Amino acid sequence: MPDQLQQDILAMVARGCSVQETGEHICRHAERLADGVLCSIVTVDHAGLIHPLAGSSISPAYSAALDGIAIGPGVGSCGTAAALRKPVAVEDIFSDPLWAPYQGLAEMLHKAHGVQACWSSPIIQSDGRVLGAFGFYYKSRRGPTAKERAIVAKCVDLCALVLERDEARAENKRLTHIDILTGLGNRANFIQTLGEAYDAGKSPLALLLIDIDSLGHVNDISGQAVGDRVIRKIGQTIARIALPGMTFRVDADEFAVLLEGTEVDLSRISAEILQAVSGEETSQTDPLPFAPSVTCGGTFLAASTPCDASTFLQRADLALQHAKQTARGRFVLYNDDLASAIAQRFRALQTVTSALAENRIEAHYQPIIRLATREIVGLEALCRVRTPEGKIISAGQLAEAMEDLTLGNFLTDRMLALVARDIRYWLDQDIPLQHVGVNVSMADFLKGNLHERIVAAFKAHGAPLEHIVLEVTESVYMDGSDRIVARAIEQLRGEGLLVALDDFGTGFASLTHLLNFPVDMIKIDRSFVAQMATGRGEIVIKALLDMATGLGMRVVAEGVETTEQAIRLEHLGCVHAQGYLFGHAASREQTAEAFLRRPIRISA
Ligand code: C2E
Ligand code: CA
Ligand code: CA
Repeated sequence: MPDQLQQDILAMVARGCSVQETGEHICRHAERLADGVLCSIVTVDHAGLIHPLAGSSISPAYSAALDGIAIGPGVGSCGTAAALRKPVAVEDIFSDPLWAPYQGLAEMLHKAHGVQACWSSPIIQSDGRVLGAFGFYYKSRRGPTAKERAIVAKCVDLCALVLERDEARAENKRLTHIDILTGLGNRANFIQTLGEAYDAGKSPLALLLIDIDSLGHVNDISGQAVGDRVIRKIGQTIARIALPGMTFRVDADEFAVLLEGTEVDLSRISAEILQAVSGEETSQTDPLPFAPSVTCGGTFLAASTPCDASTFLQRADLALQHAKQTARGRFVLYNDDLASAIAQRFRALQTVTSALAENRIEAHYQPIIRLATREIVGLEALCRVRTPEGKIISAGQLAEAMEDLTLGNFLTDRMLALVARDIRYWLDQDIPLQHVGVNVSMADFLKGNLHERIVAAFKAHGAPLEHIVLEVTESVYMDGSDRIVARAIEQLRGEGLLVALDDFGTGFASLTHLLNFPVDMIKIDRSFVAQMATGRGEIVIKALLDMATGLGMRVVAEGVETTEQAIRLEHLGCVHAQGYLFGHAASREQTAEAFLRRPIRISA
């Protein structure tokens, strides 16, 4: 008899039938064999709560009422059987103390089916965990017969098999949706959850993508194990701030957070995440050997620009890409202009990449003069791209490429070679050359061998190193809290190179930073010179001049365009200046001529 049932059930499991369907089949079968009996199956979850699974002969209202009741001794027949892990026969559900708290349920059963007694057997997994209970409801006051015991023994075994298989399947499914390293949902899980949130019309729905900065470097320098710890810690931090169930690891170094909210919530959450992550170095538990940093990009569903789920994800991704390229360690919110900004960036990278490959990069030189005499005391090398048609494109039009972390190194190497070659050229003509500024970028500091590269380039062209000044913009100099660049600069200066702090006043460097990490020269950003007429720029310039002189640093005022500015600057005590008033950037030959006509103005 039960062999047919066993075959049916195994076939159903093999076909992938649901546990509900299979459970129902078992109930039907048992009810056919045990005449007049109503049968039901409940499951018990990991928290010990009962959930109805099968038993459609029993009133749905009764089954629904069972849902969520915690098992325990004295919790009806099923709850007690599951808790005590042994069969429990209640021959009168109206007088047995086990049913005392559930008289309402007893009434329900009696009214619907004339039920008076209930016998329940626990369903136990091979490792001993209780998976559920199998119930027989009788319409007279009685316990099980020997025949019924035999039927139920077989049914309970099959139920255990079915439920165990189902748990294993659920666990497998969970594992294919879980990122093992962090325990967070993985990319597949994220895509599914995003789709569900979309279909459910959750609104306002927001998406934040978080990328760990320079994870590759961490792996290279500190090893994979430290890299894994960084990922795990950052994942935990994000999940703590956002909702754990809504935090996913979607790529090796990228997390996604889904939330209900708009711009304000995205900014708040990302600010919290950025701050918490940077505090990881000093955290009480398991601090990291350095302060990690992340970059965030996000978007939210705005009624004004509706989109589908994949466009939504694409927008968040564009914001993240843009943040990674232009705002590391910060948050960028998607806007419709981002796509064109990214296209512009792409064009700039293309232009410089092909110019590098086809040898169309040129160094042009802008003079730095002594205000009192207008004689040239130095030059700044500025990168120019010559188009195949012979047109010149200035660096300012290719800003994205100048700052690019990959192209930056190639560009600096090319400029160093050109500058070294040109210095040799001028020296060979006995031109009284002093310093030539070369702009370096973040990429050069990340690569970490700037000194060797400079030495190699200058050696190759027989140019002495004493003529070069490295120009580092303030934003690069003030990199993260670890001040890697400031330390690298300290070392470069220790090796005898001169360093100028470029665009001073536009970033966050303060006087205290300059006390701790001094440079040889400060280049005051041209925005202050442009504001001189208003008086405020003049106050700043005066303060800077006083301080720099006190610290033994030279000051160059940039962007001097009018005679009036030049006079005011000189009056304030500024000794050196640069700007269109004294000359545009010009070729090496034009620059040589300008030197020979000294003290004279050059113009392009
Ligand atoms: P920067 O280092 O501040 O260079 C000065 C920029 O201001 C130059 O623009 C120059 O042509 C412009 N300039 C000079 N005098 C005046 C003036 O009186 N008025 C105004 N409005 N502008 C003036 P350019 O050559 O387009 O370069 C822009 C930026 O690109 C540079 O700013 C620098 O940050 C970057 N750059 C230039 N060459 C290189 C390079 O070889 N490598 C790297 N990494 N960056 C470079
Ligand atoms: Ca510069
Ligand atoms: Ca500058």
